[in-house]
Amino acid sequence: MIENIDKLLLKYKSQMYADLENIININSFSSNLEGIDNALEAIVNIAKKNDIDLTTVYSSKKTRPHLMYGVEKEKDYFAFVGHFDTVHSPSSDFNQYIDDGEIIKGPGTNDMKAGLIVAIYSFAILKKLYPERDLPIKILFNSDEEIGSTDSQEIIEKEFINAKAGFIFEPGRPKGEIVTRRKGIATLDVEVIGKPAHSGVAPWDGINSLLASCEIIQKLEALNDYENGIIVGCNQLNCGIARNVVPPHSKILVDVRFEAMSQKDILFGKIKNILTEKNGVGAEVKYNLKLNRPPLEMTKESSLLSKLYRNTSKQVGYDCEEISTGGGSDGNFLSAMGIPTIDGLGAVGDFSHTKKEYIKKESLVYRTKIFVLFMIKLLEKN
Ligand SMILES: [Zn+2]
Repeated sequence: MIENIDKLLLKYKSQMYADLENIININSFSSNLEGIDNALEAIVNIAKKNDIDLTTVYSSKKTRPHLMYGVEKEKDYFAFVGHFDTVHSPSSDFNQYIDDGEIIKGPGTNDMKAGLIVAIYSFAILKKLYPERDLPIKILFNSDEEIGSTDSQEIIEKEFINAKAGFIFEPGRPKGEIVTRRKGIATLDVEVIGKPAHSGVAPWDGINSLLASCEIIQKLEALNDYENGIIVGCNQLNCGIARNVVPPHSKILVDVRFEAMSQKDILFGKIKNILTEKNGVGAEVKYNLKLNRPPLEMTKESSLLSKLYRNTSKQVGYDCEEISTGGGSDGNFLSAMGIPTIDGLGAVGDFSHTKKEYIKKESLVYRTKIFVLFMIKLLEKN
């Protein structure tokens, strides 16, 4: 079997790089909807060349297009998930595919257009290896992961409800590590409403929203418990009118993260208590605490998948550890639906979301090989 995979990879290799170059050179910043359309079309064509028919799908809001394969599959399928939007705006000077022989740079190389190529060619190779079989695979490539998957979350939750495992093609880490745990993410916006006053004439008539905000920030920050995976980061404070005006209004933006769903209610309860108890200056407090992504948790089943993948990687000649990260992905949604999920199965690289973003060139091919072999082991069990 390995020889057959090698043969097919040899045949596809130059096409894989050409396809990657093509989609990297199309800017698909999440809010560049024209670029999103162009990237979508290019990905459809890449898949079509490989006998994979991707269809454009929309959420009920119909705000933006996403791509799917296998919509008709009803149960016992494997979910392949990736995204084709990036964080790099069209006006950025980081806008081109650069291959220096060892590494490939460009907007969205690591996060995660290389992962899309790994997913598409893995499926293409599996189709060649099992020409008689209708493979139990369902694919979603969404266009809004970098902005929280607010549109595609609904599609993920509807289409993957009966998936037996989830595979996310976000980048592998610099030493080839895969991701088996991701923190849950919530956003907290706190509005603090005081009362303006001339700070030289009658400061006692005012209610200082900045002072109240400082008190609230101190209490929120005290909830940080890094050892147990809890982060409450008060990272932005907007307030004030002028040097001589008691500030009547402040807004605090807080990044909240936690490791397990079992921590969520307790943490949210503590946050609500802080925000509803009286502050020293008597400012009014309004807040909006919203769960953005539940955590990707390691389960018995997902740890077996991780072990199988890592052993396969070693078999192919690449050491592979598993890591946990604070960043979220669409794997978080699958995991919260009870689907054993592993992540970071794309190419190997680093510096996502920066202009230093790159992948190791060879990893595009060997990560495809590892994933194909891993899938064969799962398919042979069925
Ligand atoms: Zn990503």
